Amino acid sequence: MMSSTAPTSREAARVRSRQLEAELHRDPGRFRVLTGDRPTGPLHVGHLFGTLANRVRLQDLGVEVMVLIADYQTITDRESPATLPADVLGIVADYLAVGVDPGRATIFAHSQVEQLNQLMLPFLSLVSVAEVARNPTVKDEFASIGREAMSALMFSYPVHQAADILFCHANLVPVGADQLPHIELTRTIARRFNDRYSPERPYFPEPEGLLSQAPLILGTDGAKMSKSRGNAIALAASEDETARLIRRAKTDPEGQITYEPDRRPEVANLVLLAALCLQRSPEDIAAEVGSGGAASLKRLLTDALNERLRPLRQRRREFADDPAYLRGVLAAGTNRAREIAAATLGDVRELMHNAY
Ligand code: ATP
Ligand code: MG
Repeated sequence: MMSSTAPTSREAARVRSRQLEAELHRDPGRFRVLTGDRPTGPLHVGHLFGTLANRVRLQDLGVEVMVLIADYQTITDRESPATLPADVLGIVADYLAVGVDPGRATIFAHSQVEQLNQLMLPFLSLVSVAEVARNPTVKDEFASIGREAMSALMFSYPVHQAADILFCHANLVPVGADQLPHIELTRTIARRFNDRYSPERPYFPEPEGLLSQAPLILGTDGAKMSKSRGNAIALAASEDETARLIRRAKTDPEGQITYEPDRRPEVANLVLLAALCLQRSPEDIAAEVGSGGAASLKRLLTDALNERLRPLRQRRREFADDPAYLRGVLAAGTNRAREIAAATLGDVRELMHNAY
C-alpha cells in the first residue's frame, strides 16, 4: 500500500531536488511551476509539508506558480458530489491561508479550461495501454478505495495530469513522493510529442518533480495521509480535534523515542512533524522526548502543530467567510489559464497538421 515509488527512484528525486534548489536560487525566472490537489476534502498537514509550503516558497522566490484544483480527478473514484462547489472554495481558502498570493499565482479548476482538456486526446495516442497500466500509484489508490472495477478515467488520469502540467509549459512540479510516477509519464509524453511533431525545436519541456523534506507524511493509521482515507489532520481542524487525532495516531510498543524512519515509520513521522513545526532537526526532537515515550511525543506534537497552524487557521476562517472573494480569485485564475491553454492548443494543432 505504501510503495508508490521505489526507494531508489525516490532517492534519485531527492538528490535532483537538491540540485534544483540551487538552480532555483540562481535563476527563478527559468521556472514555471504547476501543481495541484483533488477537491475531495479539505487540505491536510501532509499537503502543507509535502507541497504547499514549497509552492509558497517558490512563489516568494519569484517563480511563476500555477495552482490547479483537479476537479475532474474527483470522478476517477466517486460521483461528482453536490458539495463540490463548497469543497472547491474551501481549497481556495486553504491556498490563500497558507500564503499563495492570487496577485502573483494563478488558481484555477481544470474543468473550466476546455482547451487544456482537449490535449488529453493527442496525449493518449502517445502512450501504450501497458505503460499506463504499470503506474504503481494508480494501483495503490485503486487498492485503497476497495472497489471492484477501476473506471477508465482512473486508469488514464496520469495522462490527464500530463495535460495539466504541459498546457502551461510548466517545468517544475512540487509534489509528494506518490506523484513521481505521474511526472515520469508526463516526461515521456512531452518527449514523444516533441520527437514526433517538433523534432527541430522541442515544444514541450520535460518537467521535473521537486520533493520537499517531507515527501510522504503518514496519517493516523500509519498509511499515507490522504483526504479520502479518513486518516488526515485537516489544516482547518480545531485544536481539540487535532489533539484527539494525534492521541489516536498509530505508534509502536517501544518506550524510548528515536528517529528511525525505516525501522519505526509511525514514530518517525510524528517526530518529523514536530520538527517541521518547530524548525528543529528530528534527531533533536527525538533526543528531547527520549524515555518520555509516545504519550509525551504526542503532547509535544499537539502543541507544536496547533501553534504552527494557529495564524493559518485564523486567516482561513476569514477567507472562508467571504465566498464572493474566493469565487473572484478563481474566475481571474480561470481566465488566465484559458488564455494560456488556447495558445498551446493552437500551437499543438499547427504542429499536428490539424490547422485547416
Ligand atoms: P485523495 O485521498 O483524494 O487522493 P490526497 O490527500 O492524496 O487526496 P491529493 O489531492 O491527491 O491529496 O494530492 C495533492 C498533492 O499533495 C500531491 O502533490 C501529493 O503528492 C501531495 N500529498 C498528498 N498527500 C501527501 C502526504 N501524505 N505527504 C506528502 N505529500 C502529499
Ligand atoms: Mg491523492
